[in-house]
Amino acid sequence: MNDCVFCKIVKGEIPSQKVYEDEEVLAFHDIQPAAPIHILVIPKKHIASLNEVEKDDQALLGKIHTVIQTIAKEQGFSDNGFRVIINCGKDGGQEVAHLHFHVLAGMQLGEKIV
Ligand code: 5GP
Ligand code: ZN
Repeated sequence: MNDCVFCKIVKGEIPSQKVYEDEEVLAFHDIQPAAPIHILVIPKKHIASLNEVEKDDQALLGKIHTVIQTIAKEQGFSDNGFRVIINCGKDGGQEVAHLHFHVLAGMQLGEKIV
């Protein structure tokens, strides 16, 4: 947990380009953007993955959706649309073990897997 990259970003030990912050949620630009706009939205609380979400986290995860809505409006991509992705575990391609929502926008996004 202590060597979690995103916990270090929350604590300010690793710099990030923040786009939104409140007491429970942080959003910042992905260091390796996969689209013209690629924002990561995370709970400040360390939750390793979607597998570790607990019932008490339901309000927090619900809130993240409205945070994404706010960011989309503020950053000006809500009308054109965007894609939200959560990778979970090995087969899901998750590399950072701290729950995060990828928000991709700014282009016609490619092939849909689902
Ligand atoms: P995952 O593959 O776990 O779903 O996504 C992890 C994402 O975190 C990747 O898109 C990667 O580029 C991003 N990332 C990893 N380390 C850092 C970092 O130190 N700063 C920022 N801003 N993004 C990071
Ligand atoms: Zn963490």
